[in-house]
Amino acid sequence: MERIDGHTILIGLMAHPIRHSMSPTMHNNAFAKLGLNYAYLAFEIDSDQLAAGVQAIRTLDMRGSNISMPNKQKILPLLDRLSPAAKLAGAVNTVVNDHGVLTGYTTDGTGFMKSLADEGLDIRGQKMVLTGAGGAGTPIAIQAALDGVKEIAIFNLHDAHWDQAKKNVEIINDQTDCHATLHELEDQDDFRNELATAAIYCDATGVGMKPLEDKTLVSDPSWFHEDMIVFDTVYAPRTTKLMKVAQQARVKHVLNGLGMMLEQGAEAFKLWTGKEMPVDYIRQLLFTDREE
Ligand code: NAD
Repeated sequence: MERIDGHTILIGLMAHPIRHSMSPTMHNNAFAKLGLNYAYLAFEIDSDQLAAGVQAIRTLDMRGSNISMPNKQKILPLLDRLSPAAKLAGAVNTVVNDHGVLTGYTTDGTGFMKSLADEGLDIRGQKMVLTGAGGAGTPIAIQAALDGVKEIAIFNLHDAHWDQAKKNVEIINDQTDCHATLHELEDQDDFRNELATAAIYCDATGVGMKPLEDKTLVSDPSWFHEDMIVFDTVYAPRTTKLMKVAQQARVKHVLNGLGMMLEQGAEAFKLWTGKEMPVDYIRQLLFTDREE
């Protein structure tokens, strides 16, 4: 509290619902650790209040804001500029205010790639199988393609996200050097065959998270091979059903979404402050020995 004074710079988080978010704790602890005079607050803002929320960034001269559901796509026309990845993904999770010019970024995809790099893993030039094409799956696919992943096979149900999956494949094929294909998740033979030649399987569907914590899209360990990465974007619980199946298959690298969550925050932190977030300190402080 001693940090807050007349010069404190405000950063927000605009989403609905939002009270459960760990982002305020993460960023405020990082500001305190580095002695930065910023404060990060969560604002429960639904899409009908979003234009007023964005105007508040300008009026209050906030440094920026995180943006989460249901506002990630709806914010696009309210901003002045978009990063190349935000433009391709059609979604923004971070806004930076440079003297009244608001730029939208998406840091979920870079957070995903950075969390792999933190584990010494490099998937450039290789093949990824990805399930999901929503708020997490879309930036993951776009950033992986931009960063040099050679091939992405996207599997999705024929649900409300099918058209987004189709769009992601078209954008990747039109605008990057990566070759993307779209597959029906219902075709289990196709899914198993694609996994057999994948360097990484990433599940960005949320299956495995409450209330689906006893579910997984791959339940047969023989679908995996040891020499691959299995990545679940879910981080509560820390070890999902999918991860347990991968461990049974003796997969070498089995990761949950915690690293991605920290690194997407770290990327936003750097965009606002120009400083590196003390990621190891935050990981230690917030996430050590907690199995939720
Ligand atoms: P979303 O609703 O935008 O998209 C969900 C996707 O999963 C869609 O493609 C949908 O077709 C598919 N799907 C939904 N239910 C399914 C089912 N039963 N079987 C197969 N496919 C199904 O959700 P989102 O915002 O993309 O979030 C997905 C998951 O990623 C959540 O668990 C979220 O917590 C997690 N996430 C993690 C991070 C992180 O930093 N680790 C960041 C964002 C999201």
